[in-house]
Amino acid sequence: MKIDFEKSPDGLVPAIIQDAATLKVLMLGYMNQEAVNKTLQEKKVTFYSRSKQRLWTKGEESGNFLLLQDVKVDCDNDTLLIKANPVGPVCHTGADTCWDEVNVSNDFLSKLESVITDRKNNPTEKSYTASLFAKGINKIAQKVGEEAVEVVIEAKDNNETLFLNEAADLLFHYLILLNVKGHQLSDVLNVLKERHK
Ligand code: AMP
Ligand code: ZN
Ligand code: ZN
Ligand code: ZN
Repeated sequence: MKIDFEKSPDGLVPAIIQDAATLKVLMLGYMNQEAVNKTLQEKKVTFYSRSKQRLWTKGEESGNFLLLQDVKVDCDNDTLLIKANPVGPVCHTGADTCWDEVNVSNDFLSKLESVITDRKNNPTEKSYTASLFAKGINKIAQKVGEEAVEVVIEAKDNNETLFLNEAADLLFHYLILLNVKGHQLSDVLNVLKERHK
């Protein structure tokens, strides 16, 4: 395989990493000759990290290695397309791909989901959320029903503040119901995504 490392002054070529099974684009990194050699020898995708300024085997800390399946060079030998099988989430945000917004931990709904899980695991007397978990699934489901009815009632009125507050109540109790059932919002989003195909 002839790779034109000289085209770029830093001697690096971009490598697009594609999931061998789903064909999704997972991430992009840069490789020098050494990184390519190590990747081919050890069958784990290894880049030259421009920030670390050294060879970087993806997954070296997290264990989320990219197991090599195939390497192809493009029409003019200056870009690599690598098919790999990811052991775990590829992005350092915890998302499956570097272009996947779902489940990114700084997203507010995800934060709210973490707070809800924390109230479940570390209940305090003052916590309304903890008191809901104490009442159990049936009561929580009933609460979702009540909040949904309140949303319907406020939708007919034209007090937008009340409507938004009831909509927020519904979303909050809905997250708690998902949580007590052992799910999270991303599970619901995945169902919607599947339907969209
Ligand atoms: P890892 O190689 O997965 O063990 O992660 C080690 C470090 O590399 C992380 O702390 C991040 O700084 C960085 N890193 C991991 N994954 C990516 C990625 N997909 N894109 C850019 N940087 C990453
Ligand atoms: Zn090219
Ligand atoms: Zn990323
Ligand atoms: Zn309400």
